[in-house]
Amino acid sequence: MKLTLVLPLTACALGAIGCASAGAADENDAGSAISPDSWYEDGQAALAARKAQKSNKKHAKNVILFIGDGMDPTTVAAARIFDGQSRGEDGEANLLSFEKFPNVAYSKTYTTDYQVADSAGTASAMLTGVKTRSGVLSISADAPRGDCAAALNAVAPTLAEIAKRAGLSVGVVSTAAITHATPGAVYAHSPDRDWADDSALPEDAKEAGCKDIAQQLIDFPYGDGIDVALGGGRRRFLPSTSADPETGNPGRRADGRDLTAEWVEKSDNHRYVWNKEELDAAPSSSKLLGLFEPSHLKLEMERAGDKAGEPSLADMTQKAIEVLSRNEDGYFLMVEAGRIDHAHHFGSARGALTETQQYAKAVARARAMTSAKDTLIIVTADHGHTLAFQGYPAKGNDILGLAAGKNDDGVYEPMNAAGDKKPYTTLVYANGPGSVFANGVDLSGGRPVPTEEDLSKPRYRQQALIPTGGETHGGQDVPVYASGPRAYLISGVFEQNYIFHVIADALELEE
Ligand SMILES: [Zn+2]
Repeated sequence: MKLTLVLPLTACALGAIGCASAGAADENDAGSAISPDSWYEDGQAALAARKAQKSNKKHAKNVILFIGDGMDPTTVAAARIFDGQSRGEDGEANLLSFEKFPNVAYSKTYTTDYQVADSAGTASAMLTGVKTRSGVLSISADAPRGDCAAALNAVAPTLAEIAKRAGLSVGVVSTAAITHATPGAVYAHSPDRDWADDSALPEDAKEAGCKDIAQQLIDFPYGDGIDVALGGGRRRFLPSTSADPETGNPGRRADGRDLTAEWVEKSDNHRYVWNKEELDAAPSSSKLLGLFEPSHLKLEMERAGDKAGEPSLADMTQKAIEVLSRNEDGYFLMVEAGRIDHAHHFGSARGALTETQQYAKAVARARAMTSAKDTLIIVTADHGHTLAFQGYPAKGNDILGLAAGKNDDGVYEPMNAAGDKKPYTTLVYANGPGSVFANGVDLSGGRPVPTEEDLSKPRYRQQALIPTGGETHGGQDVPVYASGPRAYLISGVFEQNYIFHVIADALELEE
């Protein structure tokens, strides 16, 4: 065996460690063409790369926390194959950008009251350092969900607040509504994730002194406020008396306030944008609020059809870094791919994988714009879903297709190995709207046959077992990837709230 080290520097330039075999596969595009010798050499190269890795123990000037909502390990494995196959490459050998990061760990996602968590409790754990209940934003478990008076005495300070007090800049980016659970936990304290605008806030909560989540973004009381916030959820900021510029529908606010106008009035430097053209034109020296849809942004696979033009997650991430990096003291940025989760809830594997692919592009953009010497990037998920990757398909089979074997002529043929002798897809869900037992499904002939025509529909819903209106979250652990200063602290299996402590330590923030 030759032990020559073949380190593909393009993929490995950032200290990546999983990149040796991916690089080798690029040269032998069909996986089956890889010889036993090259597998061995790739293994040796991966070993040498790990042995040469040095821990960067310096403090981090900047930290970017990426949260792929609902991006569990099954989603990552399927998305890496989808990403490679979408470029005509060997999908199995492919790695997504963040999978090349040197440090990886598992995070336990349960909340103090649920085995299977939601995004509010999990984001709060990562952003405040304490696990809490599902359904609440950056409030400790001392307060019950929905109890305003108790919540006002149970506020858990967030990384954004601590960073801002220390003179850093702070940003929040999401493909979901910017008031949704994950981004909301960055800047708001609310005993209920659903209190997104004043019309959603119960009277007794208003009387007890609680503010809606959109209002808290505008009123962020630390330093000179949030520096950049980009996402969806425009209707939460506009009064019911005004029409949305894109859809003409009324805003949701009952108090008559236009929070986008209030943002602009804060200073000459505050800027509000609502489409991609305006975002591109906004100077990076501005304090920037961008709201690109009345509710969540479009799914990436449907974004090209947006009327007013919508930025991608990578576009928003780039703009946020351009704004934040003007602060020489550093910044904290949270970027959420909120719609991986939504596509899973619809039962759309294609949607979830395209969102994950775009998420990986946003991470790559962020890593390329920053230095691994001074910027810690952590990439994780808040909770899992019920996607299963199953059924012995042959290597190279379309990850979104029917599970297929390869015949003697090298042609993929759908397997009829299920007990009912019918084909099935490689990706299925444990539950959801695609359940074969859902209302209206004709079971007289047994399990319906998924056809190639069904699968070609963009919003095809994978077959599922338990009928639920929306596919549910899963309780499995989620991966955490890290690159940059103190990334070595991301290792082993830990409670999700540990992520806060790594970030605060890397930034050397004092609470
Ligand atoms: Zn969800």
